[in-house]
Amino acid sequence: MVIATSAPSCEANRSRDLGGVVIGIESTAHTFSIGWVDGVGVPGKSVSAFVRPVEGGIHPREAADHHAQHAGGILRELLSDEVVLSDVKAIAFSQGPGLGPCLRIGASVARSLAFQIDVPLIGVNHCVAHIEVGRERCDCDDPVLLYASGGNTQVIARLDGRYRVLGETLDIGIGNMLDKFARAQGIPFPGGPKVEKLAMEWLSENPDSTLDGLELPYAVQGMDLAFSGLLSAALNLVEKGMPLPAVCWSLQEHAFAACVEVAERAMAHAGKSELLLGGGVACNDKLRAMCAGMASSRGGSSHVPEKFLCVDNGSMIATLGRLQLLWGSPTALDESGVKQDLRTDETPILWN
Ligand code: AMP
Ligand code: MG
Repeated sequence: MVIATSAPSCEANRSRDLGGVVIGIESTAHTFSIGWVDGVGVPGKSVSAFVRPVEGGIHPREAADHHAQHAGGILRELLSDEVVLSDVKAIAFSQGPGLGPCLRIGASVARSLAFQIDVPLIGVNHCVAHIEVGRERCDCDDPVLLYASGGNTQVIARLDGRYRVLGETLDIGIGNMLDKFARAQGIPFPGGPKVEKLAMEWLSENPDSTLDGLELPYAVQGMDLAFSGLLSAALNLVEKGMPLPAVCWSLQEHAFAACVEVAERAMAHAGKSELLLGGGVACNDKLRAMCAGMASSRGGSSHVPEKFLCVDNGSMIATLGRLQLLWGSPTALDESGVKQDLRTDETPILWN
């Protein structure tokens, strides 16, 4: 095993051509998605299906049933529109972290497909995949990553051959917090985009708005974050009669400011000048703008991939699978079991 020690450069990863396509299968939580990447690392289109609970959160077994029902159709669609089976060099899948029953559907599809067409199987770390697809698309080499998704919120930097978690949520993921807040207002999953829309409407109708009367608790705890206090306080504001769009605006301001503050500290401590956003909440234009402002005030830069690559998708799994295959080795069948609690820093980073 060779761990790259020189300054990382994603350009160097592209100089190796796999000579074919890697397919990636994502099934950690609400999304079942199959995508692909070409031999030099350009991600293709993913075909995806999303669990949309009518009420309540995501039930792992129901989500797994959803994935099992959609897997065949999604694979057929990918193979009829996007990928020629004879070009496929490997099958990558999300090995963890995630919901066990959901992960097992993706892993089973990956194992059968790899066996059927006789190509290597590659289990990958879902969190690391968010980073690598962002690095690839944004051409940033050595960023601090703000990974803001439904279930995860982490601030990560590469140090000594691993992506180290420098700070993270101590309770719920930021997307989960937005979804729970929205659900209590009768807004279906995913609530984040609707919260963003209401916040924008409030600000365009009340351009001189202040946060007076809309204050929420401070969500930063050292280098970590905690969102459940924000959630309860925001729900209280609505119960007290504050307009919902105003509370959505305040919730975004407070939650995003907390993330940006931790990300800025991480950049300062780790001595990095690039910030990279990933995860579904990175689709939010307000968060993107706050990150861009913070990075430029430090003389650095902020990067975010296209929205379809921020949310969970198969192409990011394929992107990381390609790197693991080029720089490491495939996953043996008896090591291909799912790892629900896989941590970001458990995966050795072998590539540039
Ligand atoms: P992921 O878990 O990475 O697939 O992302 C899903 C999460 O992203 C859900 O919690 C969504 O509510 C959230 N999300 C998606 N788009 C937005 C947006 N525009 N603003 C805030 N949150 C969003
Ligand atoms: Mg994710």
